[in-house]
Amino acid sequence: MFGLPASKVSHPRPTGSLGRHLVLATLLFCLVFTLITVAVRTWSAWQSNLAAMTSELTLIDQVFQRTLAKALWEVDRESLQTQFDSLAQAAPVGRVELRILRAGRPAEILEKQRGSPSTSALAPTLQHLLIYAPYPGASETVGELTLEGDEPLLWQRLQREVASIVVTQIIQSLLLAGLIMWMFNRSVTVHVQHIARHLNQLSPANLRQTLRLGRSAAHHDELSLLEAGVNDLQDKLSTYLERQRQDENDLAVHRDHLAELVEARTTELSTANRRLEELSRSDPLTGLANRRHFDELKDIEFRRALRLGHPLSVLMCDLDCFKLYNDTYGHALGDQCLQAVATTLNRVFARAGELVARIGGEEFAVLLPGADALAARTAAEWLRQELAVLAIEHSSSPVAAYVTLSIGVAQFEPETMDHFDLLMLRADQALYRAKHLGRDRIAV
Ligand code: GH3
Ligand code: MG
Ligand code: MG
Repeated sequence: MFGLPASKVSHPRPTGSLGRHLVLATLLFCLVFTLITVAVRTWSAWQSNLAAMTSELTLIDQVFQRTLAKALWEVDRESLQTQFDSLAQAAPVGRVELRILRAGRPAEILEKQRGSPSTSALAPTLQHLLIYAPYPGASETVGELTLEGDEPLLWQRLQREVASIVVTQIIQSLLLAGLIMWMFNRSVTVHVQHIARHLNQLSPANLRQTLRLGRSAAHHDELSLLEAGVNDLQDKLSTYLERQRQDENDLAVHRDHLAELVEARTTELSTANRRLEELSRSDPLTGLANRRHFDELKDIEFRRALRLGHPLSVLMCDLDCFKLYNDTYGHALGDQCLQAVATTLNRVFARAGELVARIGGEEFAVLLPGADALAARTAAEWLRQELAVLAIEHSSSPVAAYVTLSIGVAQFEPETMDHFDLLMLRADQALYRAKHLGRDRIAV
């Protein structure tokens, strides 16, 4: 979530609900509870029905006991039969049996049964002797009365009660489950859904948006803990992200700064390199090409002339009696003189391809591609004249009153020269000749 793609993660929709699970569990529990309760209440209803029937039978018995005994004593058959029939018709009585006892005679039995005789004997039974006292102090046993409860009536009553027990239990269970679901939904599900929606819409941009469940402050339960935990987590994440953003910005600034530094250093370095390259190929005093640069170019020009058959000439120039100049004017002025001569050389040989190099203390070489010996000589003559015009004073020179040059000229001949050094050698020899012939001159 946090590194943190702003796109929303889609969450699967819940296929179940905590509330529904809870209700199912409650209903299951209620079913078991109902079964047990129904069983217990049925048993207790049965017991109380038995007790009720017993007391009804007792009451009936008390009502008929005296009149039956009297009818038996008086041997009033008509009254006896009427009493007996009334007794048998009383509601809770299932069977009645009257055993008439008379001295010296076998017992006579009157019996009446409501409905068909049953094999089970679950109904209560009351049995006792009928005793009649004609006058105080005398009593005689005249019979034995047996009253049996009406079992189908017992079952009927039980059935009605069980039905009402079952109905009330079921209504109770349903009400309980509904109440639990309603309570759970109100106090848990709604808030959990709220938290889920809140978390789902979170992004790095709205991390500071606090989760509010909208419950009263009096609640201090697990949901309050969860709410506080979510808010705390958001705060921490937000702080962390801010710090990370800050660090990234700092890093970017440093990176930019570093890039600028690297670029500046690279520029400096390449400038220095160029400068070094120039220095390594140029003479520090005069700024002319040095020996190394000359050697590089001479080979190129030599091969080009060889390939194309173009003429190529070389001038070897040496200042005359320069030792004497130094001796007379000092080394510093000697340097200045060398610089002035270099400037003149550059001016005279300024055409493209022409190269002037300082190849020794007061010695210069000039490479003239495309020039034959005649052209080279003409150019050399021009140089000599320029120096004469420049007229750097040289009082101790035996040659002239100003600084002069001796110049040796050689032209490349493809037939005899297979190497540039031969051309240089020729130019050197010519220079030597020029010196020998009195200096301040050109020898070819
Ligand atoms: P020549 O006419 O025979 O060439 O005589 P020279 O005196 O010019 O020749 P030499 O070879 O005897 O002397 C060259 C002098 O050039 C010696 C040295 O003091 C001077 N020299 C060489 N390099 C420099 C330099 O860079 N600066 C100065 N000021 N003098 C230099
Ligand atoms: Mg020299
Ligand atoms: Mg010299």
